[in-house]
Amino acid sequence: MRALVKKKPEPGIWLEEVPVPEVGHNDVLIRVHRASICGTDIHIYNWDAWSQHTIPVPMTIGHEFVGEIAGMGGEVTGFKEGDRVAGEGHITCGYCRNCRAGRRHLCRNTIGVGVNRPGGFAEYVAIPATNAFRLPDNIDDDIGAILDPLGNATHTALSFDLVGEDVLITGAGPIGIMATAIARHVGARFIVVTDVNDYRLDLAARMGATRAVNVRRTNVSEVMRELGMQEGFDVGMEMSGSPEALQSLLDVMNHGGKVALLGILPEKTAINLDEVIFKGLWIKGIYGREMFETWYKMIAMLQSGLDVIPVLTHHLPAEEFEKAFEIMRSGRSGKVVLDWSAK
Ligand code: NAD
Ligand code: ZN
Repeated sequence: MRALVKKKPEPGIWLEEVPVPEVGHNDVLIRVHRASICGTDIHIYNWDAWSQHTIPVPMTIGHEFVGEIAGMGGEVTGFKEGDRVAGEGHITCGYCRNCRAGRRHLCRNTIGVGVNRPGGFAEYVAIPATNAFRLPDNIDDDIGAILDPLGNATHTALSFDLVGEDVLITGAGPIGIMATAIARHVGARFIVVTDVNDYRLDLAARMGATRAVNVRRTNVSEVMRELGMQEGFDVGMEMSGSPEALQSLLDVMNHGGKVALLGILPEKTAINLDEVIFKGLWIKGIYGREMFETWYKMIAMLQSGLDVIPVLTHHLPAEEFEKAFEIMRSGRSGKVVLDWSAK
């Protein structure tokens, strides 16, 4: 089968012929319809320091995918061939304290599909059946392909009560703009989104931001004044991975505010902890999706009017992966979807 493989320990990704993955007793084999490119895939492409000590080569990459069940191991129940499923890319151990308590997103032994084991940028991918999530017919393949990052946005946004609250989202990448749509959907009051990229800020505005602010030109405090905000933001979501953005978020939080950190910050990022202590802030780290509460919630929100279509900006056949990675790296995109269904 065809697959996008990190073949050599150097920048690049290669379209290769590789064997169809073996299917364990508890696994399902998924024929991939569509997959989307994540920032993680760009790191792997670029072969940065993180990838160098994380990715064993050769490795088929990709963890955001949708497809149909094409085979399964003898112990699998609850699925049949042809079922349309999306993949949860975090494979958890099943025996640690959190796994046993049903808090799989807090597993200390998580393994990543397309990172530590073969992924979904391929015609077929095998994952444990417990990691496959069956999709209702009214969730199409394009949305199916982005449920992993939509799940990150959902997990983050639903971590705190947003009803009637003023929300600041730093970073209008795909996840930040999907979190914007969710905050709007569940009833936040003001949603201020910051970035340094006008293309993405424009998407944020289309997804329901009250103000999409380019922090290179405008200060968030000015926007707060314009909106008539007297105190500070009630909820903050850091979705840029920029230390500067994190500090500026902490600066404009109200006392007792709630902050969720999703963006992956450089090692040893320093913040002024006085902001946290004297304001009595709550800070929560977010990793992945809650399995599988996040999945049920996001499907239900999509079925009740949550619209994330504007984030789907580019579609390309899998063979045009080089172009797809280039678009993703340019910053002038939302999600870029690769079609694997064409033969
Ligand atoms: P992305 O990198 O596409 O988006 C980040 C955005 O932040 C970009 O649009 C960038 O222009 C913007 N930005 C840069 N500097 C800024 C600043 N000073 N102020 C405001 N915005 C600024 O990423 P994404 O796919 O949307 O993901 C968001 C973040 O979440 C990334 O850091 C990613 O690595 C991380 N992530 C974390 C998890 C997790 O489980 N914790 C999962 C997926 C992604
Ligand atoms: Zn575990």
